[in-house]
Amino acid sequence: MTERKLSMKIDILTLFPEAFAPLKTSILGRAEEAGKLEFNIVNIRDFSKDKHKKCDDYPFGGGAGMLMTVQPLFDAIKSVYDESCQIIFPSPVGQVLTAKKAEQLSKHTHLIFVCGHYEGVDERIFQLFPIQQISIGDYVLTGGELPTMVIVDALARFVDGVIAKESLENESFSNGLLEYPQYTRPQVFEGICVPEVLVSGNHAEVDKWRQQQSLQRTKASRSDLLQ
Ligand code: SAM
Repeated sequence: MTERKLSMKIDILTLFPEAFAPLKTSILGRAEEAGKLEFNIVNIRDFSKDKHKKCDDYPFGGGAGMLMTVQPLFDAIKSVYDESCQIIFPSPVGQVLTAKKAEQLSKHTHLIFVCGHYEGVDERIFQLFPIQQISIGDYVLTGGELPTMVIVDALARFVDGVIAKESLENESFSNGLLEYPQYTRPQVFEGICVPEVLVSGNHAEVDKWRQQQSLQRTKASRSDLLQ
């Protein structure tokens, strides 16, 4: 039997393992079947030394909500940690994820994601392990499960063999612009025609049109990308 080369191992530590069912579907599911990615979902609660397996407590100093306690997190991370790994904590206080950041993350061979919940985690976990915090945008979600899936999905596209290399080439942000509009069959639908140039067979004109459209779209909705 030929040995398959694993590109990346991804450990995901969470209080809600059932939230990760989507990783088994579509492109990520196929990438795991092909041995390009390996997902290991770890239940943080299994590591709690509390007799009721409690993983949260009230914040010192008062304030709304609960915090995830440090002991179960510490032991859960230790169970999957190795010197070569990068630990990521999705959080609104981190730097915002970009395509460039996702590509950088895809170069690692072992990532550990720690999903926060409630009001977040006891800050001491950041003194115990080197952890990179990454935000997925300037808003607050209820937990780190969706942000983890967003970051994993964004970086997985850059892992060798997960999607075709050409698919990455003209994607939004790949050249600093947003993608041009695309069309497929039928050529006319509800009286709306596909732009003539796309069916002209003139590749130079198609490229020129796409470049213009990309620029126009970027100016209209993301002029910050042009600066
Ligand atoms: N108290 C935190 C704050 O004000 O920054 C928010 C906690 S949030 C309710 C619970 C968890 O969801 C966070 O610890 C983090 O893991 C995740 N989370 C929420 N919003 C996020 C975002 N924009 N990016 C990444 N992770 C986020």
